[in-house]
Amino acid sequence: MFEDLSSKLEKAFQSLKGEAKISDVNIAETVREIRRALLDADVNYEVAKEFTNKVKDRAMGEDVLTAVNPGQQFTKIVYDEMVTIFGQEREDIEVAHTPPTVILIAGLQGSGKTTFSAKLAKYLKEENNRNPILAAADVYRPAAINQLKTLAESISTPVYSIEQKDAVRVAKEAVSMAKSLALDTVIIDTAGRMHVDEKMMNEVAEIKEAVQPNETLFVVDSMTGQDAVNTAKEFNERINYDGVVLTKLDGDTRGGAALSIKTVVEKPIKFVSTGEKLDALSPFYPDRMAQRILG
Ligand code: GDP
Repeated sequence: MFEDLSSKLEKAFQSLKGEAKISDVNIAETVREIRRALLDADVNYEVAKEFTNKVKDRAMGEDVLTAVNPGQQFTKIVYDEMVTIFGQEREDIEVAHTPPTVILIAGLQGSGKTTFSAKLAKYLKEENNRNPILAAADVYRPAAINQLKTLAESISTPVYSIEQKDAVRVAKEAVSMAKSLALDTVIIDTAGRMHVDEKMMNEVAEIKEAVQPNETLFVVDSMTGQDAVNTAKEFNERINYDGVVLTKLDGDTRGGAALSIKTVVEKPIKFVSTGEKLDALSPFYPDRMAQRILG
């Protein structure tokens, strides 16, 4: 995960650590290298600029130049700023005061929605002792419904689906079903398309209106870099979701989407997915992610 970015940042730090004396000149040079590393990693231009300006301002201040160990001090500043752009604190999902908690999953086709829906069900069962039901509201593709059913079976979780191609009805009836079976969580997997389009957005917006979810999560493939950020923006403008799920981090060597999304969209990353297997899901911790990138 993010190997390219990590190694480029490490190189940038090395040039600073090798200096006998740290000056504003070699700090400026290191900051330039960091900016280049971020842009190579496909980090949004404004985010990279703001990030490096903040690092530079703090480093040029008394923080680094008068520190006992300037190299370490500088790395700490980069770490702090990275935690800040990741959102500082872990943000959990909302839970309903009166069950069931309804979680709506949206995103483009292929982003990993169905896989994530099943992963989330497993996670909530195992970690939070919850009893979820999955709703197959991706009603246009029988393959998607079957995929959800197969995944659900492997984690002994019920799925609600109907023959009719009526996603709003599936979602509403799944919530009623949860109430009658005393299940405390409904996870609604919706239809995606290859690109953002009006029909898909209308449908997700209609489901959201109909079931008033406690949490709407936007799922996006982290490997698509700035496209992921642009899609995240479009979905947010339309459906105003609560959090982001970044998938396929296992194949992302650059990290551009991860580093840009919170600043550009102003919504927290809540989960990250790192593989096809159902246990490859973790809550997103800004500090752990920054640590991982900085080694
Ligand atoms: P959907 O169309 O949004 O429902 O996407 P799917 O859940 O069907 O996922 C699309 C493909 O991506 C499938 O082959 C999944 O196994 C795969 N996938 C999902 N999440 C991850 C992940 O975190 N890492 C990897 N490597 N593959 C993933």
